[in-house]
Amino acid sequence: MFDGFITLKPRCEACGLDYSFADPADGPAFFIMMTMAFPVTAFGIWLELAYEPPVWVHAVVTLPLLLLACVPVIRPLKGLFIASQYINKAGEGRLATSPAPNAGPTTGG
Ligand SMILES: [Zn+2]
Repeated sequence: MFDGFITLKPRCEACGLDYSFADPADGPAFFIMMTMAFPVTAFGIWLELAYEPPVWVHAVVTLPLLLLACVPVIRPLKGLFIASQYINKAGEGRLATSPAPNAGPTTGG
């Protein structure tokens, strides 16, 4: 379903589903930030406070750890969000329309 790292193809290769409905926006990035980036940042702060290492230690430990924790999960999470959006028919809010006058049960005649 992806064309590039996280860019979507216009439609599904298998069934032709139009992906124009799919717009998880920054949802995946938000959840990855909340679940991965904050703990790794906390680890980096702990490392700094506990050992006061030179800056290059963060460059070779904390930064790669941050990238390893965040980057690989972006794509599957975006796919999951789009699947969830499709299943739940999520979209922008719309006003409920009243049924057409002739849509009710017919009175037999
Ligand atoms: Zn499909």
